[in-house]
Amino acid sequence: MSHTAEIIAVGTELLLGNITNTNARTLSESLSTLGINVFWHTVVGDNPERLREALEIARRRADIILTTGGLGPTYDDLTKQTICETFHQKLVLHPDILEDIRSFYESALHVPMPENNTQQAELPEGCTVFDNPVGTAPGCAFEADGVHVLMFPGPPHEMETMLRRCGEPYLRKLSKEVIVSRDIMTFGMGESSVDELLHETMSKMTNPTLATYAKPSEVRLRATAKAATEEEANAMLIPVWEMVCKTLGNVVYGVDVSGLAEVCYAQLLRRGLTLATAESCTGGMAAERMTAIPGASKVYRGGVVSYWTSVKAEVLGVPQEILDAYGAVSEETARAMAEGVCRVTGADVGVSVTGVAGPDPDERGVPVGIVYIGLATPEGTFCRKMDSGRRRRDRIQGLAANHAFDVVRRWLTGLPVETI
Ligand code: ATP
Repeated sequence: MSHTAEIIAVGTELLLGNITNTNARTLSESLSTLGINVFWHTVVGDNPERLREALEIARRRADIILTTGGLGPTYDDLTKQTICETFHQKLVLHPDILEDIRSFYESALHVPMPENNTQQAELPEGCTVFDNPVGTAPGCAFEADGVHVLMFPGPPHEMETMLRRCGEPYLRKLSKEVIVSRDIMTFGMGESSVDELLHETMSKMTNPTLATYAKPSEVRLRATAKAATEEEANAMLIPVWEMVCKTLGNVVYGVDVSGLAEVCYAQLLRRGLTLATAESCTGGMAAERMTAIPGASKVYRGGVVSYWTSVKAEVLGVPQEILDAYGAVSEETARAMAEGVCRVTGADVGVSVTGVAGPDPDERGVPVGIVYIGLATPEGTFCRKMDSGRRRRDRIQGLAANHAFDVVRRWLTGLPVETI
């Protein structure tokens, strides 16, 4: 039997537009991975009457209700109290939870626990407790009249930690089936082109299913299979992966990876090569993405942010004649920057980025959105010209950093790098 869920986010701040309801998004994403239908998102202020009304409506149309917010000491008597009244549950004090909260205050916050936090240790009788290792308010779940109610705290990192540790295992047990998802990552093809190529196949799929999600400059495809066992679900996903690769070709760069930088890291490690970056318009974005990976020092030697032309010349050794003849944003400069950063750092592979992120064209009239990516390797030097058109500055920069890693990834896997 498939389940239907409703998410109720509690907080006047949400209604006033002070904060965005990111918890609903996190919960919805998780529920879809678990194969649970989400048909409703509700937002209600810190008002017991309206929360009760929302709960009454939700229990009629969903068999799983998830709430976030209103569990802290200040609103303690709102979410929990109102839910318990609506579902006729008795609140009881859990002495062990009280001790946990007290010791969290003393050891993590170095202050004594305020007395009103005692209420946080009161939970519905017989509920499943969701402990909160990163905050004080515990969450919980119970079943009443065939409806499962799960309560999470409002702060997103507390909510997400609790969801992964306690919420998802609880929800998984409600279904006899196992749901497995794989994220297939692509770069270099827009969402509409991906959709055009896959739409017909995707719309006919029921199990497994395939859905597209656009991230800035990338498209992620999520393949999900439901089966009696994990092995069976995994086996069902193999043909989906093969079909996507066959249809989209080498724009597919990985499965269940966080991004192109991570793929480059793994390939560099496997091949025993090191990388360095020389960046102009991306201002160190590529370096940042590389160093965000734990263990990056095994493959990443360093980078130069050569924003001024003089830095390109003096630090990276780009010949002045090249800069004079072709300008800072040119194929020739990009190539020389990549070769220069290999010389300076001793890396095997150097990647460079020089372009116009806008809002104005450069002094030679190179239009906004033109970026050159240089790649120096033991096999020679290459260059890709990217034309993103007039977009927002940060979008152009993010896209350019992605192109830099795509160039590296393609060279490392033996694909042509200058065009996609
Ligand atoms: P606390 O222990 O902080 O009192 P709580 O469970 O009572 O937690 P709220 O007081 O409702 O939660 O919200 C705390 C903070 O969490 C809010 O100020 C806001 O920054 C964030 N927050 C609450 N609800 C959401 C939501 N739905 N999406 C994103 N952030 C949220």
